[in-house]
Amino acid sequence: MSFSDDEIERYARHLVLAEVGGPGQQRLKAARVGLVGLGGVGAPAALYLAGAGVGTLRLIDHDHVGLSNLQRQIAFSEQDVGDLKVEAGAARLTALNPHVGIEAAAERLTAANAARLLGGCDLIIDGTDDFATRFAVNAACVAAGVPLVSGALGRWSGQVGVFAGRPCYRCLVPAAPPEAETCARVGVIGALAGVVGSMAALEAVKLLAGAGEPLSGRLLIYDGLAGTARTARIAADPACPVCGQAAAKADRNRAT
Ligand SMILES: [Zn+2]
Repeated sequence: MSFSDDEIERYARHLVLAEVGGPGQQRLKAARVGLVGLGGVGAPAALYLAGAGVGTLRLIDHDHVGLSNLQRQIAFSEQDVGDLKVEAGAARLTALNPHVGIEAAAERLTAANAARLLGGCDLIIDGTDDFATRFAVNAACVAAGVPLVSGALGRWSGQVGVFAGRPCYRCLVPAAPPEAETCARVGVIGALAGVVGSMAALEAVKLLAGAGEPLSGRLLIYDGLAGTARTARIAADPACPVCGQAAAKADRNRAT
């Protein structure tokens, strides 16, 4: 895979980085990243992945752009209000980098269609805000052996984690909390979307290019109000229904 003169100039600041360079940039160009949810996390992440030259981005979101999204989802403009997020997003990303191929799926991801919607992706970024979708994405990623970058935000704090094999997202969140908080209910400071979405994109680039130490099995928690960040190790849960011993045994039984 070679680069045109335009691409060499476009990616010049990556190409001089020791941890990316030509080989890393080639791996980015060869990759397909799926973004589940084009909201507070997914929209800024998509912008930076398009800028970075990821070869193909698959956008998965059934929702339309609303006026209250623009406070933090700055991939969209006022003229996009009412349009499908995947269509407005595709236009914005193509305008930023025409070398990136965009695949758009205006569908709600469920456990039933997750394998189809995520099939063929090398890495998934999940920025959705409901647990049923997060569990479906996690199960599909574990089954396909595809790394998952998960980002979440609310009020003034956000978190980013990478799940590649064990532990999986379900080890961290065994069951949906009874009163799940959404940004619509509790609010969120706008710039936090840029922080968390950009960190998710950065982890994705590291994983794809083979640079540094991804947040695998760790959770980075950023407290915007205090201006502090910490990381916590995530323990693999032997009883995890997705990646635990019972799940592995069921897989073996199916295979024999
Ligand atoms: Zn697990």
